[in-house]
Amino acid sequence: MSVWALLMAAGTGERLGEELPKAFVRLGQLPLLAEPLRRLDDSRWIDAIVMAVPPGWEEPAILLAEELSATKAVASVAGGATRAESVRAALAEVPEEALIVLVHDAARPLVTDEVIERVVAPLLHGWDGVVPALPLVDTIKTVAGDAITGTMTREPLVAAQTPQAFSGPVLRAAYAGDLGSATDCSSLVESRGGKVRWVEGDPRLMKVTTAADLQLVSTWL
Ligand code: C5P
Repeated sequence: MSVWALLMAAGTGERLGEELPKAFVRLGQLPLLAEPLRRLDDSRWIDAIVMAVPPGWEEPAILLAEELSATKAVASVAGGATRAESVRAALAEVPEEALIVLVHDAARPLVTDEVIERVVAPLLHGWDGVVPALPLVDTIKTVAGDAITGTMTREPLVAAQTPQAFSGPVLRAAYAGDLGSATDCSSLVESRGGKVRWVEGDPRLMKVTTAADLQLVSTWL
């Protein structure tokens, strides 16, 4: 059985306020991309990795993989204008035989083998997709401009993270169609009737968006 990981790193990261794309901003001594790449490469669940990076950054990404001796990194592709387009470009590098495809945001550097195991295991029991998620702790409001228009019932809500894992054929079929405005892979699989479950995520899988997030992740490191 082969498990392929797509490492999504083609975002611009404008909200970080840096000149470099987010994946190449420093986290400690190395570009941010190095941390999730090393972790996926070290995972006993992963056989091969495809990176999606901003156009023009394909070669620096491969050189980084070589520097880290991340031998599972087999390709680096130019991402698209949206995350979904970047996933489609990376998926094109995955062989048809791949039974499981895991998709992870490079912007969530602290991925662990425990969470990878949690998302891969249910695929062996008939699920098409598995999403790590955290129940919400805050009270959730709907708003229109400055005004609060309502309060949601919190119980049925969770916040989705990555890595998300899928049956290879199911993910491929989901990305063959219209990508709409999907902000994660699961939503495309769900909309095609795929059976997706959630498992416990990890607060340390927070997405690095601002300079303060980057600082927090570097202290956790
Ligand atoms: O922009 P967003 O926060 O949704 O990005 C989540 C992840 O998707 C990031 O790791 C980012 O690099 C990646 N991404 C991408 N291609 C894009 C936009 C985002 O690979 N066009």
